[in-house]
Amino acid sequence: MTLHNFNAGPSILPKTVLSEASNALLDFNGSGLSILEIGHRTPLFTSVMEEARALVRELLQLDQAHEVLFLHGGATLQFVQVPMNLLGANQVANYTETGTWSEKAIKEARLFGGVQVAGSSLHTGHTTIPKSLNLNPSGAYLHLTTNETIAGTQWHQFPTAIGMPLVADMSSDIMSRVLDFNQFDLIYAGAQKNMGPAGVSLVIVNKNCLGKIDRSIPAFMDYRLHIKEASMLNTPPVFAVYVVLLTLRWLKAQGGVAVMEQKNKAKAKLFYDTLDALPLFQGPVTKEDRSMMNAVFLLQDPKLEKEFLIAAEQEGMVGIKGHRSVGGFRVSLYNALPIESVQAITSFMHSFSTKKG
Ligand SMILES: *Cc1c(COP(=O)(O)O)cnc(C)c1O
Repeated sequence: MTLHNFNAGPSILPKTVLSEASNALLDFNGSGLSILEIGHRTPLFTSVMEEARALVRELLQLDQAHEVLFLHGGATLQFVQVPMNLLGANQVANYTETGTWSEKAIKEARLFGGVQVAGSSLHTGHTTIPKSLNLNPSGAYLHLTTNETIAGTQWHQFPTAIGMPLVADMSSDIMSRVLDFNQFDLIYAGAQKNMGPAGVSLVIVNKNCLGKIDRSIPAFMDYRLHIKEASMLNTPPVFAVYVVLLTLRWLKAQGGVAVMEQKNKAKAKLFYDTLDALPLFQGPVTKEDRSMMNAVFLLQDPKLEKEFLIAAEQEGMVGIKGHRSVGGFRVSLYNALPIESVQAITSFMHSFSTKKG
């Protein structure tokens, strides 16, 4: 049976990436050694790190002020590292509150300075994206979560001329659509949603934002040291970085971020058109704020949920259960998911509807 992998993260990777990665486990680049058993400072690996950083720069068209880092600790460590580097103890940072992930970011930031919640979707149960912001004008930065993986919402327009650095958690939509990435002063993303395996996170930082606050920062937490050491301050997660490199090469060969965006739009349109056409199902998110990456939905009659899930699993649908905190269902439509998988689940939704109608 063909499996259709809608996992939210860790999630689907291109088959060619998996097979190249498995070859490298036994013999990396004809060296006769595994990628797992070479020194990270050998040319064999430093070339991996350098190519991965250069590909991020190329695919996102970053300018020279932006530095590309591969760090450990997931996006969760970035909830800490961002305010530790950018938010002075007597300063306030603006945060938008749009779901589980931004709430976690806010909680950590409060350990380092003040937080102004500049916009919130709490009153709609996180089914919308705030349309106007109440910014503290002397804020150290504005933080937003471009795609709320659990709530299924996504920012489609970004605040402009805010007069302070813009910081974004792009864990679940990095590399999925064309944006002016230079408008962000700091971008972070755990790789395991849309860019590779778990264990490494991408951080893109405008170096002009650093060194502005008066705090001692432990070496491992200081972006400036990671920049200076070219992401080799300590042993990097070598295998995860390598699989990210393979995924970025694949992405470039597909035609880059613009081509991915076209494909992602087509997948999201097919899914949401189906959702809207079938009264058995319901999408809680306001249409204009729907995520292209994580589509959440419910059954009008919750009593049918279990039957739907079991039948879907029998058809090869993997990972469609909603996050444990919100219930319902979620299909993740990341770059590596082929449109055939969306065709499979939408035709299954049609036939389930017919059976129940
Ligand atoms: C998954 C996720 C995180 C947490 O990522 P970790 O790498 O597990 O720390 C943070 N933010 C968003 C938007 C996510 O989707």
